[in-house]
Amino acid sequence: MSIFSHPAYDKHEQVAFCQDAKSGLKAIIAVHNTNLGPSLGGCRMWPYADDGEALNDVLRLSRGMTYKSAMAGLKLGGGKAVIIGDPRKEKTPELLRAMGDFINTLGGRYITAEDSGTSVADMHIIGERTQYVSGLIAESEHGGDPSPSTAYGVFVGLKAAVEHRWGKSDLSGLKVSLQGVGNVGFRLAKLLKDAGAELFVTDIFQDNIDRAVSELGATAVSADEIFDLDVDLFAPCALGAVLNDDTIARLKVGAVAGAANNQLTEMRHAAALGEKGILYAPDYVINAGGIIDVYYQQQGDYDPARVKAHIETIGSTMQEIFQRAAETGETTAHVADRIAEERFGHEDASKNIDPAAA
Ligand code: NAD
Repeated sequence: MSIFSHPAYDKHEQVAFCQDAKSGLKAIIAVHNTNLGPSLGGCRMWPYADDGEALNDVLRLSRGMTYKSAMAGLKLGGGKAVIIGDPRKEKTPELLRAMGDFINTLGGRYITAEDSGTSVADMHIIGERTQYVSGLIAESEHGGDPSPSTAYGVFVGLKAAVEHRWGKSDLSGLKVSLQGVGNVGFRLAKLLKDAGAELFVTDIFQDNIDRAVSELGATAVSADEIFDLDVDLFAPCALGAVLNDDTIARLKVGAVAGAANNQLTEMRHAAALGEKGILYAPDYVINAGGIIDVYYQQQGDYDPARVKAHIETIGSTMQEIFQRAAETGETTAHVADRIAEERFGHEDASKNIDPAAA
């Protein structure tokens, strides 16, 4: 298996592999870029079909974290870890401790956090072996869970999209469709409801739909119908690759602004949205509230007011992206990438790999 010529390899600074026979740990850590600070990103545990799939995931996700943190104005680089295995069957305290030892060998160039297949409780076990772990602070408003901060950031970014698209700051009467009303989607729906929006929701779990209907007065629609609704704004809060040839052709909205990661199936879909007059709020910019929260948890001086103020900068960043895109004719996704690269990517940017300086 090649690394340097791998399609997902993008000048990653370091890719480390670990196998621990005693605990059964098989893991990969990818450090994409540390120009702005130590790399921070979640530790995902997933039953990957093979090593190649795990490598592809960790290379892609770690790169995404560099862009996300740079855009959020954090002194962090991008990194990610993957553990190969089924979290429901193969996750043991011994395996997590071995993961802690592995993370520790990088000396702080990579800081971990919870992700799919890992929990705050798992991070505490990893934390027995390394200090380079975040998302543990019980005093943080939600016991380390970044979802409420993610939802708030999406709400702020969504308001910037409404302002740009329709020239209004008032959300009352705005019709919003939400795909996925889980941890982030439900909280976003609540913020929207409180601001006077009219909600249309779908989910694959009926109890999640029922909660949105009974608590927020949302209208339930089927998982497929969500793309055909005559509404103002679509908020994807479930899956990646939700914006594709089929769904974009069906969407009747004026804007897309939601929490899901990797919403565009391919970069060309950003242009397809633009051609239909649909304003797209780049996913990694609008959903950065969680990483901002985790950053302050990692700093050790968690102040909810400070975290909230930082998350609110997502609104001005989003306005800058929309404005530049309108001026240059580029897509909002391209503009976001370019701004992020300006922030982290200069070849001559001074390197800072000292975690204490972040
Ligand atoms: P979650 O699992 O709590 O919620 C996702 C919801 O989507 C679930 O209720 C699920 O049943 C539903 N869903 C899945 N497939 C669906 C489909 N085909 N149609 C309709 N509903 C479907 O996850 P979450 O933490 O709320 O995250 C939601 C999205 O936001 C994910 O893409 C995640 O990567 C992204 N995100 C989350 C955070 C965070 O802080 N949790 C931060 C950044 C990005």
